Amino acid sequence: MIEYINLPYSVDALEPIISARTIEFHYGKHLKAYVDNLNKLIPGTEFENMTLEELVKSSTGAIFNNAGQVLNHNLYFTQFRKPVDNVEQNVPTGKLAEQINKQWGSLEAFKEEFQSKGVSLFGSGWVWLSADIDGNLEISQEGAAGNPITSGRTPLLTFDVWEHAYYLDYQNRRAEQLKELWKIVNWSIIGERVI
Ligand code: MN
Repeated sequence: MIEYINLPYSVDALEPIISARTIEFHYGKHLKAYVDNLNKLIPGTEFENMTLEELVKSSTGAIFNNAGQVLNHNLYFTQFRKPVDNVEQNVPTGKLAEQINKQWGSLEAFKEEFQSKGVSLFGSGWVWLSADIDGNLEISQEGAAGNPITSGRTPLLTFDVWEHAYYLDYQNRRAEQLKELWKIVNWSIIGERVI
């Protein structure tokens, strides 16, 4: 059985960046459905006893789509915290901060590329920051249920650009939501995901 994770905060903790109503649908309905679908699909198959990560790396079709969406949403929902007053004070530290500065020159330049790749992703999908085994970072676009783990990379940070992630709060304004999300990124969690 694949677990339906608990949120590490209350449903209204991310307001006004992400409303309680969006969390109730996105976490309460969309993620729940992916978990339930997956737990109906895997019993009696070779995938039954795999971890979620193993499932994503080794499956295709409906199992991959649901497993990918569970893993992606688990990483997404656990990477947030209550909004900060001043976004400029919400910054990565340590090794992650050093590597971002080394590769992009500044956190602002990194954020611009991340948002831009989120905005230009056509249709439903995810924009990712991931690391390779040497700690080199990369921003990538993944359609549908994609996750850079299938390319051997470690997923660190992700913004969901499926319309269900933002439509109740921002309607069609995807770019505006992506910009707002920096206020709730929990950089200490992201830093712990770096190998
Ligand atoms: Mn979603």
